[in-house]
Amino acid sequence: MKKDDRIPDYVYKSMLDVPLDELYQKGYRAALFDLDNTIAPDHLHEPPPLSFAIIEKLKEHGFLVCMVSNARSNRAGKIASLLHVPAVTYARKPKPDGIFRAIDMLKVTPAQCVFFGDQIFTDIRAANRAGILSVLIEPVDPKEIFYVRLKRPFEKRIRRRFQF
Ligand SMILES: [Mg+2]
Repeated sequence: MKKDDRIPDYVYKSMLDVPLDELYQKGYRAALFDLDNTIAPDHLHEPPPLSFAIIEKLKEHGFLVCMVSNARSNRAGKIASLLHVPAVTYARKPKPDGIFRAIDMLKVTPAQCVFFGDQIFTDIRAANRAGILSVLIEPVDPKEIFYVRLKRPFEKRIRRRFQF
């Protein structure tokens, strides 16, 4: 049976908890990640130290990196440039197109990519639809913008049902 596209392959509390050595040993080489509430609190205009720490750790472990965000290009693009990482903005997740663009930019294969994100209905769906490893990260900041907060009870239902 085909896997439900709302189910992540793994779940971690923070990007800093992800066992990058293990992923590297399994052949993963590229880390694609969401911006808001995955590598930084929601809707910042400058990256906090946490974001720099995450990027540094990914690079230290030998991963190519690319941000894939649904956010407007000026805000997400500025954060990406301050972090010195490539980015796909206006990615329109859950469509997988933004992920495919990132894969092309990094010149890797889908089998080498991992996607990290905090939302089931956008991030996890997009990663699963693109056919790459999907990792759900618990939101960095509980204070979220209203349209994200509205989706959380529905996410909870899915998580209860599929137990992750
Ligand atoms: Mg997010």
